[in-house]
Amino acid sequence: MISQAMREQVKSNSIIRAMFEEGKRLAAIHGAENVYDFSLGNPSVEPPNEVKKAILEIINEENSMAVHGYMNNSGFEDVRAAIADSLNRRFATHFTAENILMTVGAAGGLNVVFKTLLNPEDEVITFAPFFGEYRNYVRNHQGQLVVVSPNTADFQPNLEELKRKINMKTKAVLINSPNNPTGVVYSEETIMLLADILREKQKEYGSEIYLIADEPYRELAYDQVEVPYLTKYYENTIVGYSFSKSLSLPGERVGYLVIPNQATDFDNLISAANIANRILGFVNAPSLFQRVIAKCLDAQVDLESYNRNRELLYNGLVSFGYECIKPEGAFYLFIKTPLENDVEFCNLAKEKNILIVPGSAFSCPGYARIAYCVNYATIERALPGFKALIHEVKE
Ligand code: PLP
Repeated sequence: MISQAMREQVKSNSIIRAMFEEGKRLAAIHGAENVYDFSLGNPSVEPPNEVKKAILEIINEENSMAVHGYMNNSGFEDVRAAIADSLNRRFATHFTAENILMTVGAAGGLNVVFKTLLNPEDEVITFAPFFGEYRNYVRNHQGQLVVVSPNTADFQPNLEELKRKINMKTKAVLINSPNNPTGVVYSEETIMLLADILREKQKEYGSEIYLIADEPYRELAYDQVEVPYLTKYYENTIVGYSFSKSLSLPGERVGYLVIPNQATDFDNLISAANIANRILGFVNAPSLFQRVIAKCLDAQVDLESYNRNRELLYNGLVSFGYECIKPEGAFYLFIKTPLENDVEFCNLAKEKNILIVPGSAFSCPGYARIAYCVNYATIERALPGFKALIHEVKE
């Protein structure tokens, strides 16, 4: 009785989620400490202390009717103003509460953007490898996701191919940096070239092409690497942000969109996004956690803990002969699979109780993603398995 569209969705249900379920099954058989589950991007570092303190303060001191009630679909005005101020301080931007729309995480935000922008058959271009849910979010709003093939030399986006793929139907280009699954941060040079291409193509086609920056990993950047703030490089930029990873709050579902004044058709964009937030059924972002994050905008998770994991895993894998780019951000590492068939390789890894996700799930076969948001000890215990694996398949 379910719809044709959902029948297809059920058939191609997320491979990452399936792995996560497999991890639980293996843990029940072998014991959780003997299963090395690197499948899901679920933060392994606790939310900062400020979060708990803020929750208690709000519950104890604020008016509960106001804390838990409905509000404007854009979110609490004072929370949006606090976010705008924080962005202005950090990135020398000039936002006000009017530019900020609170959303149900990055996922909710992207759905709001696509609902706001897309006519049927409009195209959204993204760069492989990419977070597989993008395909679903675009399809939810009758758009077409167009994929630019991966540049496996350094996993910066392939801009020559982008140029060839932009056409009259291109409504948006969607990028994600720091990137899931590669951990690569797009350089300022990349962003400037990308902005030039989009400006040129807008002129050529007499159309508007929005750049959507999906940034749930913005705060997870290592070695002082600069993550450019994209509204400064291209006028038609919309930023999607989330506190899922930056404050380790993925279950609380809170994030925001930034729609700058200089974006073409700003007034309509903002009012449409506001209404999209409501009619998609979100109504507004969770109210308690809007209030919580406003008190925690300067708080940070323990980044050093992810960094230690990154160093241990990267150095270990490279010493065994695995090929990968050292990630500069997020908590993922993307290895070239020593077997060409990435699915087969991940199945062999599973026999050693190591759960990793084939690159095919990110439209990049021949690679695999290792999510290192796990305990340090899990990586220590898994490394001998990774070593044995590469030796077996190379024999
Ligand atoms: N975008 C990317 C690239 C992600 O990796 C994720 C989650 O893993 C999301 C969006 C969704 O994040 P949220 O929990 O904020 O909806």
